Amino acid sequence: MLSARDIEHRYGNRLALAIAELTLNAGSITALAGPNGSGKSTLLRVLGCVEYPTRGVVTLDGQVMVTSADRWRARRRITLVEQRPLLFRGSVTQNLAYALSLHRVRGAGAERRAASALARMDLTGFAGRDARSLSDGEVQRVAVARALALEPDVLLLDEPVSAADPASTAALYRAIEQERARGAAICFASHQVEDAFRWSDRLLGLTDGSISPVTPVNLFRAVIPDGTGPRTVRAGPLEIQVVTDRTGPVTIAIPPDDIVVSPAPLRSSARNAFQGRITRIGDDGRGGVVLTVDVGVNLQAHITRAALQDLALTLGSAVVVTFKTMAVRVF
Ligand code: ADP
Ligand code: MG
Repeated sequence: MLSARDIEHRYGNRLALAIAELTLNAGSITALAGPNGSGKSTLLRVLGCVEYPTRGVVTLDGQVMVTSADRWRARRRITLVEQRPLLFRGSVTQNLAYALSLHRVRGAGAERRAASALARMDLTGFAGRDARSLSDGEVQRVAVARALALEPDVLLLDEPVSAADPASTAALYRAIEQERARGAAICFASHQVEDAFRWSDRLLGLTDGSISPVTPVNLFRAVIPDGTGPRTVRAGPLEIQVVTDRTGPVTIAIPPDDIVVSPAPLRSSARNAFQGRITRIGDDGRGGVVLTVDVGVNLQAHITRAALQDLALTLGSAVVVTFKTMAVRVF
């Protein structure tokens, strides 16, 4: 649906963005993760046709956007929610109605769309509130509701939960999933890699303005069954024992520092043990070693150089990875 090709964007002499190719498809959620200053906002602004790239083209359904008339047309179908959105003077409802009127939606249709968008963001009680009286988090939620009301083909969100509490965070990501079901192409930026992983179909990492696929380390999506205490959950091909109060869809993380690697099964109290082979031995950047072990899925484990030598581990070695139930993080 929306593509960027050979994009470069400079602020003065500084290169802020260098993207060879990025396509957002209909009915998909792409997450951009990266530290401050990595270019997330710049990329979203370029995709949103708000910022014109120094070089390269953005295309919408194959149509190259060159002139400002092209971009104005595109902006009827693309909605960008900036990290610090601006609301107009007036009530929350008036803000939504005004945005809808710019998109030529008026009257009963506009009222219905505005009410439904506010409800989806748990903002029904805010309809009559003066937009100037809202907290940062509320402004952000109203701006998302305003975007939802427009039913855009492409929805871009810049750190949409940076000022949100957990309940509004969940409401927001559920709304995004509904937008995907409607067929929208969605892209959101987050500096929280776990959130980005959990709520997207594809996670891209941005570093110094360039994109690389992120290989999330030992992260899995899982569904926790009802109950309490230790539960066994399916995480990719693995059955992992976890302890959590949570139920339903979650992200599971196994910290690489908490994984024990041994040539043979250990007699231990740890409930999670899987057999596999070492497929990669690398530097962990802290003077130790990061092992990638294929146990049906790749797990990364950190060990010391001394341990690597003592255990005579090499590429292809058969090993067992072991970790405690309590080491598994669930969020
Ligand atoms: P992120 O959203 O990932 O924090 P940004 O896209 O905001 O990153 O910024 C990328 C780089 O471009 C940073 O080095 C930032 O300082 C610079 N930058 C962003 N906006 C401007 C601007 N309007 N003028 C000058 N430099 C900017
Ligand atoms: Mg930003």
